[in-house]
Amino acid sequence: MKRDGTIQALRATARAWKLLAKKQRGLFPALGLRAVVTALSPYVPIYGSARIIGELAGARRPETLAFWVVLTLGLTAGMAALGALCKRWAEVEHQQSVYTEGELLTEKLFSLDYNEIDRQEIFDLDSQIYQAYNWNGWGIAKTVFCFRSLLEAIVRILGGAGLSVSLFAAQTAPGSPFPFLNHPLCAAAIVAVLLAVAAISPLCADRANGYLLRNAEENMFVNRCLSYFVNALLDRRRAADVRLYRQLEGVCEPNMSAAFGLFSKNSKIDRWMKGPVGLWRALSQSLSAVLTAVIYLFVCLKAWCGAFGVGEVTQYVGAITQTFGGLSSLLTTLGDMRANASYLETDFRLLDWPNHLYRGSLTTEKRADRQYSVEFKDVSFRYPGSDRWALRHVNLTFRVGKRLAVVGKNGSGKTTFIKLLCRLYDPTEGEILLNGIDIRKYRPEEYRALFSVVFQDFKLFSLPLGENVAGSREPARRRAEACLRAAGLDPAAFQNGLDTFLYRDLNDKGVEVSGGEAQKIAIARALYRDAPFLVLDEPTAALDPMAEAEIYEKFDGITGDKTAIYISHRLSSCKFCDTIAVFDEGQIVQRGSHEELVQEPGVYATLWNAQAHYYTK
Ligand code: ADP
Repeated sequence: MKRDGTIQALRATARAWKLLAKKQRGLFPALGLRAVVTALSPYVPIYGSARIIGELAGARRPETLAFWVVLTLGLTAGMAALGALCKRWAEVEHQQSVYTEGELLTEKLFSLDYNEIDRQEIFDLDSQIYQAYNWNGWGIAKTVFCFRSLLEAIVRILGGAGLSVSLFAAQTAPGSPFPFLNHPLCAAAIVAVLLAVAAISPLCADRANGYLLRNAEENMFVNRCLSYFVNALLDRRRAADVRLYRQLEGVCEPNMSAAFGLFSKNSKIDRWMKGPVGLWRALSQSLSAVLTAVIYLFVCLKAWCGAFGVGEVTQYVGAITQTFGGLSSLLTTLGDMRANASYLETDFRLLDWPNHLYRGSLTTEKRADRQYSVEFKDVSFRYPGSDRWALRHVNLTFRVGKRLAVVGKNGSGKTTFIKLLCRLYDPTEGEILLNGIDIRKYRPEEYRALFSVVFQDFKLFSLPLGENVAGSREPARRRAEACLRAAGLDPAAFQNGLDTFLYRDLNDKGVEVSGGEAQKIAIARALYRDAPFLVLDEPTAALDPMAEAEIYEKFDGITGDKTAIYISHRLSSCKFCDTIAVFDEGQIVQRGSHEELVQEPGVYATLWNAQAHYYTK
């Protein structure tokens, strides 16, 4: 069972190493060199001082002594310098590996289709990975530590074994009182004790750690809770609420203390630490002391019986102690790798997550005349895991170059309709056609490039205005400025024009734009893309009535020859649209122009009458 576990853990770890090595070429050479130098360093003084002591206790030749002293000092200093250099290099690479791991996961998340990202399972996996890393660096990051300690342990064992092999071969002087010391069984018994202690000592440490692992969920929860409240309290958008409602004293601190209670005096963890955890750790350490005593006894007895001189005594004791350290560390590392295997499994579940969306191979023809027609044919849709229809039997054809308004109450399916139109999801039933061909048959990226969407919950970056509009570090400045103007913002009104930083996260001179300004920037971003379809999802929600009126007035200019789709629950925004589709409970219940729809009894007229007093004045 355990062997299988170790093999599986080794396999998973090797896979993580491969992924990291591919992205960060310098990582493993740097870690490897550091491990080898660190593991071999102690053997230089062990070997050198054994020669010096041997010479001092024997012939005491000045040239030989001088030779060994100079060589030992020179090599020790050289190894120390090399060690320091390798350490520096390895630390830089190790630090970098944190970003490499982040990159692996972010690239994966970015490569996932929207419908996958929207799944609760992906959200859970992502947050489990984050919490495991935060708790104790579990996951891919842990494999970097494991590589270093595994290699270091192996080199230590090999080096120590090389320096202590002659201990077992050396024969005691004829007639010495303990001839059994020369017997191969005696050597075997010593090696067996060494191996047994090396195995049992980490097992005791594992037992101690086992208690802490049993608390893994609670530990993670405490970390999660703390990082949530710390981030929430640092969030500027909450600053006013936190103060006005005295949330720090009222909810944040009490909840953090409650979470911390898991570690308080007389808590389960506290009792474990004072009881079994402490005992197992003490046992683990005392076993090592017993082993040292056995080694000293064996080596000194053999020396006393004339097998070798005093110089070798220091060499053997030093070498075996190092070997033992290497063995323990090897077993501890294998234990860590076994424990890490389940966290790696979570990492790989995310990294291996497939995109389920069918990817067609047709290219969307680039039409200069923008004559793209889209048709919804009896489309119904249920969100994954939901048994409610978000859209039911939707039939609709877009007339090229026209303006379509999609209206309806909250939850009536308007945004879902747009998500299907942009192929963020595929219909559960029915089909959507682009120029008569099912949109699944096109390459998704090319198909999506036909749409510029301003979602209700759009987000801007803390970057210069121009970069936000262009989505590039090198914006076409004139075009970006023209798009901003078209969306109703004068770039000259910003202190540094397109180079003005938005928000202060990355730049002290950043400007805090209002919700309305942000929305205009998002509209400019959509215009910059210059796609044949322009979709505005509640684009005026954050605007004041003046700004809203301004956008409507400009709407014809903004959309130009594009096919525009305009989603709103404010009906005043629909008046200028050619067609209005009224959604109710996932269905299109009415269709027509404003003039037609206000006349006929139905959802539109009811909504209009309810809102009319805002607009008629
Ligand atoms: P609208 O844009 O008209 O306010 P939506 O299209 O957002 O409405 O929502 C339509 C229905 O689909 C609602 O009942 C909503 O609860 C549900 N819904 C929206 N998004 C999801 C989702 N990601 N998972 C499950 N149900 C959803």
